[in-house]
Amino acid sequence: MTLLHGMTLLRDPLLNKGTAFSEAERDRFGLRGLLPPCVLTMQEQADRVLINLRNLPTDLEKYVALNALHDRNEALFFRVVCDNIDEIQPIIYTPTVGLACQKYGLIFQRPRGMFISANERGKIAEVLKNWPYQAKLIVVTDGERILGLGDLGANGMGIPVGKLSLYSACAGVHPELCLPVVLDVGTNNEELLRDPYYLGLRQKRLTGAAYDEFVDEFMTAARKTFPGVLIQFEDFANHSAFRFLHKYRSEAPVFNDDIQGTAAVALAGLFSALRVSGGKLADQRLLFLGAGEAATGIADLVVSAMMAEGMSEAEALRRNWLVDSRGLVVRGRDGLSGHKLRYAHDHAGIADFATAIKTLKPTAIVGVAAVGGAFTPEVLRMMAELNARPIVFALSNPTSKAECSAEEAYRYTEGRALFACGSPYDPVKLNGKTFVPRQGNNSYIFPGVGLGAIASGSRLVTDEMFMTAAHTLADCVNPDDLDQGSLYPALPRIREVSARIATAVANVAWQNGLADGPPPNDLSGFVEKQMYDPHY
Ligand code: NAD
Repeated sequence: MTLLHGMTLLRDPLLNKGTAFSEAERDRFGLRGLLPPCVLTMQEQADRVLINLRNLPTDLEKYVALNALHDRNEALFFRVVCDNIDEIQPIIYTPTVGLACQKYGLIFQRPRGMFISANERGKIAEVLKNWPYQAKLIVVTDGERILGLGDLGANGMGIPVGKLSLYSACAGVHPELCLPVVLDVGTNNEELLRDPYYLGLRQKRLTGAAYDEFVDEFMTAARKTFPGVLIQFEDFANHSAFRFLHKYRSEAPVFNDDIQGTAAVALAGLFSALRVSGGKLADQRLLFLGAGEAATGIADLVVSAMMAEGMSEAEALRRNWLVDSRGLVVRGRDGLSGHKLRYAHDHAGIADFATAIKTLKPTAIVGVAAVGGAFTPEVLRMMAELNARPIVFALSNPTSKAECSAEEAYRYTEGRALFACGSPYDPVKLNGKTFVPRQGNNSYIFPGVGLGAIASGSRLVTDEMFMTAAHTLADCVNPDDLDQGSLYPALPRIREVSARIATAVANVAWQNGLADGPPPNDLSGFVEKQMYDPHY
């Protein structure tokens, strides 16, 4: 029972019910006169929020309004998000969150999460003690590669905040267990350094040993302050993301959603596409536009999945090709960074994507280079000439960076594309058929994986967990979804999907000796019981 009273209670977002305090509560908590007399239910309040939200002219204004609600009445915020996930997810996460990060200083109202700046070097453990809750889940970024938007420094805070909102909404991880963190090591974004409203450190990024030591101090302090905490790396640049994942993954429960979450959601999309085309994964040839975290993360998991179907590693690798800003990744090309080397095959160099398609004849193209419009009509027509059911995944975010729109994908392949997108698109009508494209959004995967890891208390987060998550997600897609071109389940089913993924992940933890004690008899009931359901 709450000990807070009167105005203090109304101003506590975790306890505030707004106009939903009952007559009895108004007496008990000294609220008489502080609220208008009418008592509204949570549903009535949620309806009012939606009316106001829908009247706002831009998505950024909606984002600001939802943030304000989050700051004032947390349960109501999550009720609105959970019950309207299709409509709200694109506002609190991609694509709107990209713009919100760019304008973070300007739209700032109240801080959320922890800002750990380079000035706190040597005392991060002390700083973390200022957090008032016992975190079980941290999402952390250093803001260097926010979505496809580049270095946004401390403005990147919008990403951990948004992801953790999705954790609570999509998988019911209790908000009190969630801690968003930005490691503010400076920014090399000159525009931000000149921006009078920029709220981060006005200095160039820490680099080299100083940067690594800072991140290491944070990792040690976080694990000491919050024992067993799951740490999700988010939107670090390539040169940090792969290193940190490999450095910490065998000693602590960590994962990188840009690499592993993306991989699982894309693999699930491939499984769905193959249910439609009737092909086998082992027969696919994938050509990626992009060779970064998303591309190599997806390719690595696809290779594992091909190997699980009995293929040799060498053969599986040969079925995955990358094109980066310098053309096809091939053996012997100068200056290839480590994560691309597995895919540097013996082949002549090819400068452009269209020629790579002509030469390699892929069955699937996956756009993860953040180059808007790169899947040109020519590219799409070529894919349709080569394949009866070309697989086309345009995953780059935000919408301005998408390789093609849903409408373009269907139009230039005569409606034959098996399409998934990174940004949301409305249904497309073509030749009398309505296609319902769905986002290959990581929010299908990371909330369930995180919940499963937390629920089981897993000591590590393994690749097997992401593979299991991909299979489970694909199993959630029903024939009606496939008939209308949807490679993912409807978003309103997300809590059911996350619960199934979490159960499967927790099972992997217990099967592999990563969780203590015997597994619960009813694992799915055990997981579901831990899910936060926002109500008063
Ligand atoms: P990244 O920075 O790690 O990789 C980007 C890659 O694109 C790099 O390899 C770069 O060399 C390559 N590239 C840049 N310009 C190019 C060009 N002109 N031609 C070919 N390649 C080029 O970024 P990332 O984490 O891999 O993310 C890439 C994009 O994918 C972003 O837009 C991100 O938002 C999106 N993404 C979407 C999802 C999803 O929808 N589920 C998940 C993760 C990432």
